[in-house]
Amino acid sequence: MTVSGNIKILPPLPGRCKICAAKHDPAQPHDRDSLIYQNRFYKKHRRFPTWEDAMSHCDEETKAIFRAKLSPAAKETEEKA
Ligand SMILES: [Zn+2]
Repeated sequence: MTVSGNIKILPPLPGRCKICAAKHDPAQPHDRDSLIYQNRFYKKHRRFPTWEDAMSHCDEETKAIFRAKLSPAAKETEEKA
């Protein structure tokens, strides 16, 4: 196997999100931890994305589900009450 000295950042693979390069449903949040997403977001906003940014395109129902997933502690408190 030969290794080319020419390193290129490849565009996202077919079937993957064009924003974050992860494989997810367009209605679902982007992968906030994706380096491609973080780089792109940083260039545009001069800060790194939060999960709220990653799911800003989602509908309110999806956001609610995702927020619940992100904070298991909050969910636990709710169940105990
Ligand atoms: Zn994405």
